[in-house]
Amino acid sequence: METLVTIERAIEIARQVATIQTTESVPLTEAHNRILSQDLISKVDDPPFDNSAMDGWAVRSSDIERVKIGTTAAGSHPSKIGEGEAIRIMTGAPMPEGSDAIILIEDGLGGKAHTNFIRRQGENLSKGNVALRTGQVMTPAAISLAATMGHATIPVRVKPRVAVISTGDELVTPGEELEAGSIYESNSYGLCALLEKIGCKPLLQEIVIDSLDTLRTTLDSLECDLILTSGGVSMGEFDYVRILMEQEGEIHFWKVAMRPGGPPLFGTWKGTPLFGLPGNPVSSHLVFTMIVAPWLSPETPLGNNVQVRLKDAVKGAPGKVCLRRIRISSEADQLVATTHTHQGSGNIHSMVAHNGVTLLPPDINANPGDIIDALWLL
Ligand code: AMP
Ligand code: MG
Repeated sequence: METLVTIERAIEIARQVATIQTTESVPLTEAHNRILSQDLISKVDDPPFDNSAMDGWAVRSSDIERVKIGTTAAGSHPSKIGEGEAIRIMTGAPMPEGSDAIILIEDGLGGKAHTNFIRRQGENLSKGNVALRTGQVMTPAAISLAATMGHATIPVRVKPRVAVISTGDELVTPGEELEAGSIYESNSYGLCALLEKIGCKPLLQEIVIDSLDTLRTTLDSLECDLILTSGGVSMGEFDYVRILMEQEGEIHFWKVAMRPGGPPLFGTWKGTPLFGLPGNPVSSHLVFTMIVAPWLSPETPLGNNVQVRLKDAVKGAPGKVCLRRIRISSEADQLVATTHTHQGSGNIHSMVAHNGVTLLPPDINANPGDIIDALWLL
């Protein structure tokens, strides 16, 4: 077991445990955010035939005078024109045989004939082109492109099934009454949403009380590809996730040099990979963002690395990368960052009031005007 590892080393250690990589075929209506598991070739030219990009008349550019002989629209069979003839044409209609130009509707039939308002067969894609590659996240545009290429279903990675467990005697499900000393359980809901965002299938479990036996029974009952717990991984007497993993599981690393988010652990429980996330809400969210997501689904990062000019002072952390919550916006030709709320790791509001985090290197305090690395959260 390694302790107090860097974020990069944590991901590397987790990579030594393989994630599942089976594939399935899904219809395009279910493809959103899925990850393509094979290169996809186009079954057709795009466009499949020369067609008009505008409403107007299809004509021969060499003619001086023209008479209208018919009309063609998108979906019509290709028509034909001869010398001095014009066909009224709608956007998307096949160019009539013999025509090579379009007169725009607003110019009238006596207007200028343009040869550039024709969308040529195959100008976007040729049959056989690979336009979507393995690992592509199926965004709305990628889904439309797959359809354009003639695919009704596409091969995607099977969604990893991830069990999400919160631990703690103090936790109460939202909607129920809070008793003295209790708080609403919140981590699991955010973690499930994060999992969905990176193409996984969250399996939300009941809250587990601080008891070694209950935790063991719960872990043994799971059927999943990954276990995500929150809480119970620090040095406390009742931090049973750490204690159980130490005694009966296998820990590969414990503690990461980041703040917030210091105490996570990673290992396996009877062969199933397990991430023990810290209980503090900001910590669990950021450890997921920085370590779990890059390991589980490198194709779907939860943020973009940027450089920002600070408007407020930001305090660093001794020996740890410091992830202060910042609001990133653009000003003149630069990204700037401001801070707005209390930065405690228990304050999940700080993750909503801001849209990014600093990636302040260990032992560095930054001042207004400094340009620093940051993660702009998606
Ligand atoms: P722990 O890591 O179990 O010591 O928890 C650290 C802090 O996070 C404590 O204040 C807990 O009450 C809080 N916490 C733990 N789990 C959750 C959760 N699922 N939702 C909200 N807060 C939590
Ligand atoms: Mg706890």
